[in-house]
Amino acid sequence: MIEGQRGGTIAADVVQKDMTVAKQSELPRARFQRLAKEISKIGKGFYSRGWALGTSGNLSAVVKVDPLRLAITASGLDKSTLRPSQILAIDADEEVRFGRGKPSSEAAIHLAVVRGRSAGAVFHTHSVWSTLLSERHAQERGVEFKGYEMLKGLENVRSHEHSEWLPILENSQDMKKLSREVRELLERLPAIHGFLLRGHGLYTWGRTPGEAKRHVEIFEFLMEVVARSKASSDRG
Ligand SMILES: [Zn+2]
Repeated sequence: MIEGQRGGTIAADVVQKDMTVAKQSELPRARFQRLAKEISKIGKGFYSRGWALGTSGNLSAVVKVDPLRLAITASGLDKSTLRPSQILAIDADEEVRFGRGKPSSEAAIHLAVVRGRSAGAVFHTHSVWSTLLSERHAQERGVEFKGYEMLKGLENVRSHEHSEWLPILENSQDMKKLSREVRELLERLPAIHGFLLRGHGLYTWGRTPGEAKRHVEIFEFLMEVVARSKASSDRG
């Protein structure tokens, strides 16, 4: 209860309702709902491919640029049963503007990519192949993909002869530090389509959720090819 203007009291739930309406009004609801539906469908797809098991991985999409409102998966969700109601809207300071729950702990990295690339969607997976390759190529600080037809699935790549560098950053639980490193990486290498966190997983993005999903599929395909090729040449 708080004091009203005429000395009376205003029930806290009325105030809460007013605040909720105020928060909702700054969010384009129809666009948020459409993106929440799209994100949850794509997240379930990633789970079914084994790229987001055990509550790992997170997905986000820009609802509004100014002021920034980002639709993002809440923390700790099982992606096999991801529902649109489990998607939150956060602002540029990671504050929840709509929805229930905590945003993903990696929200700062999503925000760094959105700012650094003007991305419309940012997707993050924890696949076996990204974990394996990011360890194997940690010394080189990246993996090169060259000569594969599937490279043409990356935006603005026109030929299989393209050389794509997928940088590897050291993993950390310090999200401020990691998001700063991501910002620096994106400034330093403007042509990249994604990056790996060592022993952790892949980040990639796109102008739309559809484009970001395609980039996840392309990178997961390329990482599996390279990792399996190495494994078979080791046996031979
Ligand atoms: Zn992660």
